[in-house]
Order: sequence, then C-alpha cells, then structure tokens
Amino acid sequence: MYCRNCGEQINPNASVCVKCGFAKNTGNLYCPNCGEQTNPGAAVCVKCGFSLAEPESSELSDKSRIAAGLLGIFLGAFGIHNFYLGRTTRALVQLLVSIIGGIFTCGIASMAMGIWGLVEGILILTNKDAVDGNGLKLKD
Ligand SMILES: [Zn+2]
Ligand SMILES: [Zn+2]
Repeated sequence: MYCRNCGEQINPNASVCVKCGFAKNTGNLYCPNCGEQTNPGAAVCVKCGFSLAEPESSELSDKSRIAAGLLGIFLGAFGIHNFYLGRTTRALVQLLVSIIGGIFTCGIASMAMGIWGLVEGILILTNKDAVDGNGLKLKD
C-alpha cells in the first residue's frame, strides 16, 4: 500500500504516512495499490486498474446518527457529540468556551454552547446524510 499524497510505501496497519503525515487514503496524486502517479481526477489507476474512488461514497461510519444526535441535545454544551464524531477541533472549542467562558460570563457562554450543541444534535438527527469527522455517512 502506498501513500496517496507522496507515493511513499506505507504499512497497511499505519493510519498516517510517516513521510508526509497525510492520513491513509487521503490525497489523490498516487495509486495506493501500485504507487504509480495518478491524475488527481482519475477514477481508476491507469497502470493497475485499482479503483481510486473516494471511500465516502460507499463506506458507512461506525458512529450512530441517533447516538450523535442525542449526545448533541443532552451534552452538546461540552461538545461531546463532536468528540464522538471525531470533529475534535469544534468539540474542544465548545468544551473550552463552555467551561472557561462560562465562568467569566456566569454561565451565558455555556448556555450558548448548549444551544449550539442542541441545534447540531437536532440537525444530525434529522439529516439522513449527516457525516462524521472523516466525511463518512453515519449509520442509523
Ligand atoms: Zn505520504
Ligand atoms: Zn495502480
């Protein structure tokens, strides 16, 4: 298996390329199967015929849409639903604003984060095409 960004050979068990730091199967410059340079828009590798289609089209996330939505509704102020979905940056913002901002604003910031989480939770529950932090569609 080869890094799709830099063409370096990577261990199939590794989740990121040790050379360029790209996550496995991200990037579109090299064939992951034979390491041949590919056209960024190509659907298959011209050398080995390996399918280069984005995995998000068929693959489902192992995260549950219902669980993510409920976490957002009940624990959204702390970004728990975003931690669950792997959207760590957004989750950390919600958590920190909620706790640190909440102390300085007598809880107003926490309330705002709670409403943000609530809205996100409802959107996740009502959106059949909701995706996780990796762009994979959530399972029901
Ligand atoms: Zn790489
Ligand atoms: Zn190939």
